[in-house]
Amino acid sequence: MSVVVLGSANLDLVYDVERIPAPGETVLARGYGAFAGGKGNNQAVAAARAGSETRFIAALGRDENGDRLAEEARAAGIALLDRRVDAPTGTASIYVDRGGENSIVVNSGANAELTALTATELAAIGDADVLVLQLETPPGAVAEAARAARAAATAVVLNAAPADRRAEDLLGDVDVLVVNEHEANGLLGRDPGADLDAAVDALTAYGCTVVVTLGAAGCLVAAPGGEPVKVPAVPVPVVDTTGAGDTFVGYLAAAIDADERHATGAAALAGAAAFATAAAAIAVQRKGAVPSIPTLEEVRGSRD
Ligand code: ATP
Repeated sequence: MSVVVLGSANLDLVYDVERIPAPGETVLARGYGAFAGGKGNNQAVAAARAGSETRFIAALGRDENGDRLAEEARAAGIALLDRRVDAPTGTASIYVDRGGENSIVVNSGANAELTALTATELAAIGDADVLVLQLETPPGAVAEAARAARAAATAVVLNAAPADRRAEDLLGDVDVLVVNEHEANGLLGRDPGADLDAAVDALTAYGCTVVVTLGAAGCLVAAPGGEPVKVPAVPVPVVDTTGAGDTFVGYLAAAIDADERHATGAAALAGAAAFATAAAAIAVQRKGAVPSIPTLEEVRGSRD
């Protein structure tokens, strides 16, 4: 029973500002903090907190930020398979203004070096029950990982974020696709506001079960040839939705992992999505990404 995540790891440098600086302007921050981030890292933390034995394949720089991310991942109970590369560890400079609006600059750095997979990485994918992928690292290795998982009967969960047209080629090797409304259309090269039902039909035609997250409206689970099932969100007071999507994906993967058959059909996924929804509802009530991800006990407690 295990999950392997392949994806991005960044150090998020978060500046709390009165307002986001205009071009040419300098503003003084009211507060500052540095936190582990990146979709891959966050989803690995969520799967581990959900109780899955979790491995995380990531590229880090040979620098202090890389050491810090490695240390934090290990402290979160993740078995890290890190390759150290000659590029700085990924960073994201995030300015958050008084109204909660943000402006972000990402330097992918080492994440861009997560290319052709090593024998150890491929073996970890083959040994796992569930592989989790996103699109913040180069598409070649993401596709290679999906193919290796397929060949080894490891269930493949792809969170197609950020939306990338090239990922459509991957869908034949994907069991579960998790997207928000914009990504569902973006993946197909359609306008972000285009008809969602039509996008879901086109995506399930690849043979995968599609989960569309809809923020406060919950999510939709659609399997090929079946009627989509709606899973409502839990009504809660929202503090900060950062990390809600990653919490959802990590918990969904852990639920598939915990299932004896690792089933990814409509019925199994509706149950897994309800579990992930309960976890995400806790995350939106807390600030930040990694610090907001709940433990299994907290999620179970919230469902009693
Ligand atoms: P992000 O990238 O901002 O983390 P996302 O766009 O990938 O998010 P969302 O659809 O916004 O994903 O949220 C993921 C899940 O989190 C939703 O399916 C829902 O279960 C939960 N969620 C999000 N917003 C709320 C909310 N306001 N109230 C309750 N649950 C929420």
